[in-house]
This record gives sequence, structure tokens and C-alpha cells, in this order.
Amino acid sequence: MSTPDNSTETGEKPLDFIRQIVTEDLASGKHSTPVTRFPPEPNGFLHIGHAKSICLNFGIAAEFNGRCHLRFDDTNPSKEESAYVESIKKDVQWLGFDWGENLFYASDYFDLLYDYAIELIKKEKAYVCCLSADEMREYRGTLTEPGKESPHRNRPVEENLKLFAEMKDGRHPEGSHVLRAKIDMASPNLNMRDPILYRIMNVSHHRTGDKWCIYPMYDYTHCLSDATEKITHSLCTLEFEDHRPLYDWVLDTLETPAHPQQIEFARLNLSYTVMSKRKLMQLVDENHVHGWDDPRMLTISGLRRRGYTPASIRNFCTEIGIGKRDSWIDMGVLENAVRNDLNSKAPRVMGVLDPLKVVITNYPEDRVEEVEGKNHPQNPDMGTRKLPFSREIYIERSDFLENAPRKFFRLDIGREVRLRYAYFITCNAVVKDEATGEITELHCTYDPETYGGNAPDGRKVKGTIHWVSAAHAVECEVRLYDRLFCVENPDADKETDFKEHLNPDSLTSLTSCLVEPSLRDAAPGTCVQFERQGYFCVDSKDSKPGALVFNRTVGLRDSWAKRKKK
Ligand code: ATP
Ligand code: MG
Repeated sequence: MSTPDNSTETGEKPLDFIRQIVTEDLASGKHSTPVTRFPPEPNGFLHIGHAKSICLNFGIAAEFNGRCHLRFDDTNPSKEESAYVESIKKDVQWLGFDWGENLFYASDYFDLLYDYAIELIKKEKAYVCCLSADEMREYRGTLTEPGKESPHRNRPVEENLKLFAEMKDGRHPEGSHVLRAKIDMASPNLNMRDPILYRIMNVSHHRTGDKWCIYPMYDYTHCLSDATEKITHSLCTLEFEDHRPLYDWVLDTLETPAHPQQIEFARLNLSYTVMSKRKLMQLVDENHVHGWDDPRMLTISGLRRRGYTPASIRNFCTEIGIGKRDSWIDMGVLENAVRNDLNSKAPRVMGVLDPLKVVITNYPEDRVEEVEGKNHPQNPDMGTRKLPFSREIYIERSDFLENAPRKFFRLDIGREVRLRYAYFITCNAVVKDEATGEITELHCTYDPETYGGNAPDGRKVKGTIHWVSAAHAVECEVRLYDRLFCVENPDADKETDFKEHLNPDSLTSLTSCLVEPSLRDAAPGTCVQFERQGYFCVDSKDSKPGALVFNRTVGLRDSWAKRKKK
């Protein structure tokens, strides 16, 4: 078990309730080494909610010198694929965690689980039931009424063994028989009303092929997998609280190598998104987004492509903490985490998203000078780079305003600004398209005495703007992302399909942006700060040499907070 490449940057916090339990269990000698597990079902890509569970499980293992298993909970072959297995492994590793030798699959335990089922039958704790699905529902009762016992509940052991073997041998059609635990049809907890342990499914499995046509249910599989791996603390989200009595019943009824403690914590809910894999899958399948790794998706692969760093996601998970009550986290908290991380790591560069041409009329036509730019204003170790400067440059269109108010510290006719690292320029004239009235060019003059951006006479300018040299700039596409949904909780209203809340403007593609030449060969995944604009990364899928594509990871300020006040 190795520790993440970067520790969290957030300060010391009191231990959360799960870490307290682990601490006590080690102090009392109940356990000498904590063993946790992260148990994804390989039926989709991991999302930011899973990151919370990954950071908790692998985090505890790292902090307490224990280990964390990665276990694929692959008991439902109809929805699972090995492609998901690979993406999940990649995402866990990318987040900075390592399961070492401890990679497991629930499907590896199918033989063992079958033997345990036989043991249950022999102990008269399980029986083969032939009620139809509808009948089963009817017999189950409700929250206020007890259920009714199945007429097959008291089948003799021998008959159960025979029928269960026939189920395994493919002698019965799907849906005709199930194996159920014999617990209590009157239990106030519906999970304890003779839950199904095995069902017939004529589906091949991505790992066991056609060996099985019966598959164990999640609740039965999970506790036995935990016990087999001698997990000490089995951490899951709150919706499993009602399943805990069943978890304990199975382990108390059977003789297993261990009896792990299930502990529930609150799942992560993030505003303006959906977190269920089924819903994320719909967005992908119905082409509302461009794949699981669309930078608008809060999947790990989407966040990675968007430019989030592993440390930023880990820091976010530390920041939100672990609690017992469900709560909502604002998207701004996640964005802050990546902004904080990139602030210290991302080199500064200049990029113009909406270019406006500027001709410096008193600058010689064929001259090209180099000015020096700092790669990070606070960190000299990140070095400097040379930026070509010439007579024609591009600035951001929004950095010029005709008849600007006094407090507009950028360009207008007669105003002077500093071009970052280069010269002071003053605007003298505006050229407009006669037909449309659109400004096509500015004519400015520069002060040759201000090389490097400082005036020897001590003269001050209020504004500093970014720019690129027209002849040297690299044209590129920049993709800006907005929240994927227009409402905080797209799932809130059960009457309305969550997709109706999709934000039609969640993606804006700007195709004629210009960046400084140092970025010409920037590798996919490179993260930079475009000065004054935000953090951007080179898209890992669509960016090609000669056709750069940048994703905006996040703006410089919390745009969410600003919008909320409206
Ligand atoms: P689905 O979205 O299909 O309901 P799931 O999110 O439960 O599935 P799993 O693959 O079963 O997906 O999840 C693996 C682990 O991640 C589980 O232990 C689960 O509790 C945890 N997990 C899933 N979603 C969240 C979340 N939003 N916050 C914290 N942990 C989560
Ligand atoms: Mg699940």
C-alpha cells in the first residue's frame, strides 16, 4: 500500500467518526491491522462520489498502516463488462492509490458462495422457492403489514439440495426458482423477510463465462466476500444501514473466517449534477454528452480530462469530511479545490479567447523583439520564458471599450495600459467594419522607454492586459464548460425526467483563439493558467499537433457564488 503522491493541503482536522472507530479498535487490540476495501460494481465509470469512498478506504489503510483491497463486485453479469473493470482500475490508480496484490473479484468466490449456500440449506436456513415474481411481491407484505410465508418455506433439506443443484445445472428456466434465506417474514425490516440469495440467469459472465447460470445476490455476496478477505471495517453508504442486519445474519449463521464490522457514512451529493451510474449512462447513451469522459461529467475520467488533478480531488474529499447525515455539497467547493491546487502548480501563459487586432503604428514593421515572462509570479523556481513581440498583436476584445467609464482600467481612445511583460501602449484610433460597425482593429502607439513593462519616469498605468504577437501566436480551439444542469437537484421532482433540466449551454466552443507560441507543442493533459482567464488544459482526446484544443478547467474566481446571489 503506497501513499498518495501528494498529501492533502488542508490542515489538521479532528478524526471523523470512522477513523475514531479504527483508532479505538487498534488501541483495544481488536485488530492489529485495519483492512478496508473499495467494492465497485463494474457496470459504469467511477464518479466523484466514488472518489469519496476511495479516499476514505485507501486513506484509512495508508494512515493506519493497513491495506485496502480493490474488489469488483461482479455479481450481475447482465450489466457488467470488462471495459468497466479497466476504467475503474485506471481511475483508482490515477487518484494516487495502489491496491498492490489485493485485487479481488466477487466472481472468484462463486464456488465458495455456492458451498456456503449448501451449508445454509443444510442448516435449514435457506430454501428453494418457486413463487413467481408477482407472488413474491405479494407475499412480501409492506412496511406496515407483515409478509406471508412462502408455501415452499418448509421444504425438506434433501429436496432443497436437489432443486438447488438442478438450478445450478441449468435444469430450470429463468425466474422459475430462487434460493431464499429463511429468516423472518414478519420482520419490520423488509430486507429480513426471506431475501433472495440466488437467482437463475442465463447470461454469460465477463470472467466466468458460461460456467454459471445461477448468480448470488449482492447482499449475500458482499458480506461473505468481506469475511473471506478478512476485512476489518466494511465501509458503505447510508442506504445500506437497513441491510446491516442481513449482513450480520449471514455471517452469524455461517462459519466464516471473520466477521467484519459494517459502518455506514453519508454519500456525497453535489449540486447541479446527478450521481447515479444509471443516469450517467443515459446521458452517454442518448448522446447528451460526448462519452463517459466528457469534461462536463463528474466522472473521474471526465474530471481528469477537464484538467482536475488527483490532489485536487483528494483535497476535496478531505475538505468535505465523513459524516453520518446526508448533505449537499456546492459545486463551488469542488472548483475551489482544483483552483487552489492549480494555483501553485500551473505555469502562467497568455492566451486570447476573443482576439482583437492591435497595430502599434510607431513600431518598426519588420522588427521582432523578445520579452521575458515569468512562468509563475510567486515561484521563481518555475523559471521564465521568452515571448516574441512585434508590430501587430492581438488582445482580448473585452479589454477595449469605447467611451469607457472612468473605472474601466483597460483600453479606450486616449488611455494607456501595460502589455504584460512588454510595453505601455496608448490607443489612438479605432477601425470599424463599415457595414456592421464591429471594431476590427485598434491603432496604438507604444512607449519605447517602457520595455519590460516599467516606465523609467515612474509613470503608473492602472491596467495590465495580456496579448499575443500576431505572427507568432498559435491558433487553437478553447472549450468552455458550464454546469450540466440548470437546477441544483435535477432529481428532486420525481414527476419530471432529470434530463429536462439539462443546460443547453453547458458547452461553448471558441474556435479562433490564440495562444503564445510556447504552447505550440504542449502535450495532451498539460495544465496552464491563461493569465486573467482561468486554468486550462490541453484536451487529451481531441487535441492534435497543429490543432490544439484546450478545456477550461475552472475560472479564476468562484463564478457559482456570484451567480447564486442573483
Ligand atoms: P449506482 O450508482 O448504480 O447506484 P453505486 O454508486 O452504488 O451504484 P458501486 O459500484 O456499487 O456504485 O459503488 C462502489 C462504492 O462506492 C460503494 O461502496 C458505494 O457505497 C460507494 N459510493 C457510490 N456512490 C457514492 C457517493 N455518492 N458517495 C460516497 N460513496 C459512494
Ligand atoms: Mg452499489
